[in-house]
Amino acid sequence: MTTSSLASAASPLRFENAFARLPAAFYTRLRPTALSAPFLVAVSAPAAALIGLTPSDFADPALLDVVSGARVADGSEPLAAVYSGHQFGVWAGQLGDGRAILLGDLPTAGGAEHVAARLELQLKGAGATPYSRMGDGRAVLRSSIREYLCSEAMAGLGIPTTRALCIVGSAQRVMREAPEKTAVVTRMAPSFVRFGSFEHWYYNDQKDHLRTLADAVIAQHFATFATAANPYQSLLAEVTRRTARLIAQWQSVGFMHGVLNTDNMSILGLTLDYGPFGFMDAFDPAHICNHTDQQGRYAYHQQPNIGLWNCYALGQAMLPLIGSVEAVHAALEVYQSEYDRCMQQHLQDKLGLATRLPDDGALIDAMFSMMHRCKVDFTQFFRRLGALRQHDTGADEPLRDLCLDRDAFDLWASRYRARLGLQAATDAQRRLAMNRVNPNYVLRNYLAQVAIERAEAGDFTEIETLRAVLARPFDDQPELETYAALPPDWAAQLEVSCSS
Ligand code: AMP
Ligand code: MG
Repeated sequence: MTTSSLASAASPLRFENAFARLPAAFYTRLRPTALSAPFLVAVSAPAAALIGLTPSDFADPALLDVVSGARVADGSEPLAAVYSGHQFGVWAGQLGDGRAILLGDLPTAGGAEHVAARLELQLKGAGATPYSRMGDGRAVLRSSIREYLCSEAMAGLGIPTTRALCIVGSAQRVMREAPEKTAVVTRMAPSFVRFGSFEHWYYNDQKDHLRTLADAVIAQHFATFATAANPYQSLLAEVTRRTARLIAQWQSVGFMHGVLNTDNMSILGLTLDYGPFGFMDAFDPAHICNHTDQQGRYAYHQQPNIGLWNCYALGQAMLPLIGSVEAVHAALEVYQSEYDRCMQQHLQDKLGLATRLPDDGALIDAMFSMMHRCKVDFTQFFRRLGALRQHDTGADEPLRDLCLDRDAFDLWASRYRARLGLQAATDAQRRLAMNRVNPNYVLRNYLAQVAIERAEAGDFTEIETLRAVLARPFDDQPELETYAALPPDWAAQLEVSCSS
């Protein structure tokens, strides 16, 4: 949208709301509760471009009013959606948008490849709803910055995710462990429907609503399935496939979601609901990023199994539509093969191997056990591995320095070099290919923490600097190399919990 059309329009954005066309039982209509004295904290230019906006458009008070919840734009029919879910493996019953309010959907700007025709906009932290339970409907600035940065970082990594358009802040405070400043993040996605949206109707024995939801999801997002032999089975198989693919992508960059409950699982296979997520620093397959998850249900090495568990929960909910347990199982079977295929490809690419040879599995297993034993930084190991020279150990130091046990590294590196000898690529070619898949910059907790602390003190510049670095994670950005640094000692004290 251009500035002139913004200025002249009665309302800055022209919404429709496809979700509001669903039966009334799917949601509660309500206005957002505006933040008091709101101010702009951050705008993501790439996210804004998806809906034809630029950061300078946000100078328009009318637009700020929309994203702070003060004003309902033309065509917007704000609502909170109901859903249920399994939390930490236990049926939790009704949850729903307890602090997120869907404004409606907007057309995406032309020309963007792989972008849906329309994106829904949702305000997270826009006040209490009938689904808030004991919550206050707000989100704190701290967690809003984390969600904003990680959404945009994931997009930069090429990983399916909801997007974050902007953050609006306020001096208003809410109580968490201590009083904290509040904020609203505007999220964007083609749909925010969750596995738990399906479970809601299944466990409430409302098969008509279950079918209505599935039909709407198919019509809007999977139109080709409408004519399939069993459209609902096709839907389940595709969601299962996307989930497997998504989790393989997470594993390949060391991303841990932290709260993989079924209400946080996107029906479109997007990374959804950023809370106590983390990126792996020193490699430990059992690492738990969420301080609240004492059992480690959502530890790094559990994520692939949990992804499947969640697809089973969705399959259970879709059973009445699909018609038979056998047909549900057939759809769910897609998971393991898709996950294995994707993960194998990611690992091959991460190691710069053009083909897969029979012994590669053992080479990769040995690498991960060496990385674990030597507490090797996940991101920098793969990045620096790209610079390894096949016939010259003289340049190994930056890589060796990541390993507590240098001999263990040398041993593995000699195997890796022997393997490189079996392919034709030059060092330069391999490095180029590896740098396209092994990021130099990920949203380490300490980087987010620095941006948060500065923002709490009123300086938002670090949020934008970090967002811009993370938008190009595969490019060397020499002037910003400090953003690739390993965590400082103080980062070991950081604890990220569900509190948000
Ligand atoms: P989460 O663990 O963030 O995915 O949230 C689980 C459920 O709790 C969802 O239904 C959220 O809407 C709800 N919730 C989380 N925080 C709040 C809050 N501060 N106020 C109201 N509801 C919340
Ligand atoms: Mg959630």
